[in-house]
Amino acid sequence: MMRYGGNTTSFRIDIDGIPPIFVDGGTGLYEEGIRLASQPGPLRIYMLVTHTHWDHILSYPLFEPFYRQDCEVTFFAPVSEKADFPRLIRGQHHDRTFPRSFNEITAHIEYRSFSGGEKFKLDGATISAFRLNHPGITIGWRIEHDERAVCIITDNAPVENNYLGEGMRERAAADPQAFEKEFNDSLTDFILGADLVIYDTHFDEAGIKNRRHWGHSTPQTATAFALEAGVRHLLLHHHAPEDTDFMVDRKLDEARSIAGEQNLVVEAAAEGMVLWL
Ligand SMILES: [Zn+2]
Ligand SMILES: [Zn+2]
Repeated sequence: MMRYGGNTTSFRIDIDGIPPIFVDGGTGLYEEGIRLASQPGPLRIYMLVTHTHWDHILSYPLFEPFYRQDCEVTFFAPVSEKADFPRLIRGQHHDRTFPRSFNEITAHIEYRSFSGGEKFKLDGATISAFRLNHPGITIGWRIEHDERAVCIITDNAPVENNYLGEGMRERAAADPQAFEKEFNDSLTDFILGADLVIYDTHFDEAGIKNRRHWGHSTPQTATAFALEAGVRHLLLHHHAPEDTDFMVDRKLDEARSIAGEQNLVVEAAAEGMVLWL
């Protein structure tokens, strides 16, 4: 964790003239909250959420701007019958597990619900949502502006004989092969020609054996999709907690050897990394 860091998922996307867009509120968001809280207001913040596993939402109760009256937040989050996002966020403040009550939050918070397949304009940007193969409802996000596109594909498992998302098993039942082909083709289309794709590579090929149902991918899968979709830059992300820097290096080497001489830059996500598109 010395070079790549150990915090969990959180990305900030800055586009000229648009409020900051945060994707996920893992532990990586915490320090950003402290930094933002010291800025003069008013604050306008967009929060895209991939899904509600702990490692993607842990910092929301700790996010200082939520405790400011001059802060306006819109959450764009997956919602299903089984998981009501606003209720879940309030539940993070249960007095047995967290000292600050949800009522202390003074920011104005709005929620918009997604289940995948949506496309909408957000100020000058275009945002698209894709339903990934991960337990519950997990959204891959594509953010486009001024002919630049970034896609965040996490968490996501290879779909072959592995249907993890809500309702996927039922949809695959009639014709699994057709379902898998459609899923893979749609995912390729979703990231097509993107300037940057951030992809879940929690496992290596040895690690994913017997753990496909955990809902994560490998550098091999990520690179195959990126090449197929003509992506310019692939960022390996969601390193396993037990990964040492050396193990992340090895994942990176593997992805780069698959990419070979083809026109794809591969890097591994590191804490604090800034990329310009
Ligand atoms: Zn997850
Ligand atoms: Zn995760």
